[in-house]
Amino acid sequence: RAEVLTIGEAMAAVRCAGPLRLGGASRISVAGAEFNVAIALARLGHAARWAGAVGEDEPGELVRRTLRAEGVLTDAVIRRTDAPTGLLLRDVAPGGRARVSYYRTGSAASALSWEDIRPAADHGFAGLHLTGITPALGPAPLAAVTVAADQARNRGSWVSLDVNHRSLLWTRDAAARALRPLLPQVTVLIASDDELAIVADGDGERDRVEALLDAGVEEVVIKRGAAGASYRDARTSLDAPALAVPVVDVVGAGDAFTAGYLSGRLDGLDAHGRLERATLLGAACVACDGDWEGLPTRDELPALRLRAGDTLR
Ligand code: ATP
Repeated sequence: RAEVLTIGEAMAAVRCAGPLRLGGASRISVAGAEFNVAIALARLGHAARWAGAVGEDEPGELVRRTLRAEGVLTDAVIRRTDAPTGLLLRDVAPGGRARVSYYRTGSAASALSWEDIRPAADHGFAGLHLTGITPALGPAPLAAVTVAADQARNRGSWVSLDVNHRSLLWTRDAAARALRPLLPQVTVLIASDDELAIVADGDGERDRVEALLDAGVEEVVIKRGAAGASYRDARTSLDAPALAVPVVDVVGAGDAFTAGYLSGRLDGLDAHGRLERATLLGAACVACDGDWEGLPTRDELPALRLRAGDTLR
């Protein structure tokens, strides 16, 4: 039985140091929001299962091998012969702007269905972690996460949802239509401050948090980038600063943050402790190259436990 089951998409990620059209050396890794969370949790010693579909191809083997190497449970990973693993290319445009191109149309993950997920759900779990990316991939993944969330709550598990809006995949209106019906099943809602309006109406942040709590969410966790993060529930309101770190690569910070929060929750920490672990992991991710490569193991956590304003080098 896993502590956390997470369902999603993982892609091969090719990174180039300059414009791709010039060729040259590149580095291949794996990218995927739920994939990042699963690895972050496993590094902290939690039993995490990642369920998703990859192609029966070399990128798919890279996904499976990386998960296994990191101690994530992979028995629910599906390998399709009729669809490839998705791919993303990250390069640097002239002028220094980071640029990402996705090749995921018709990918194995875009057809992920509830039938694919059911065996993983049947294994049992304390909590189910979802993001707003998987339901954006198509009708089948949207149905899969919706059924998974319903079943998780019926079985007494908690459900976390990171809104993780991706404007290349769908509009804010489409995301709102898909994600708002999930809210009654969501225990922990995680969002950037600018994503709150996707899942809740209201004039300002306070109104939107209120609307989320009214909809049945128990814990609202707000990511604010270098400005830190906040926690709100019916009784508690906490704000935490970000740790001062040299900013190397901000991609993946949100997923690391989410894993830190969920890890604290699994360990029975109070809201302050959960937020502290979340901002610690977010900062650790920002301070290293890669989406998940720089995340700490449980043994490494104490060395990272610095006060806000201290520098992590
Ligand atoms: P992404 O989608 O790229 O993963 P996000 O928008 O979901 O990012 P952010 O708000 O950028 O998430 O970051 C999540 C958390 O990571 C923040 O709340 C903060 O605690 C930490 N963090 C982000 N940027 C920094 C930074 N520059 N310095 C220190 N901590 C940071």
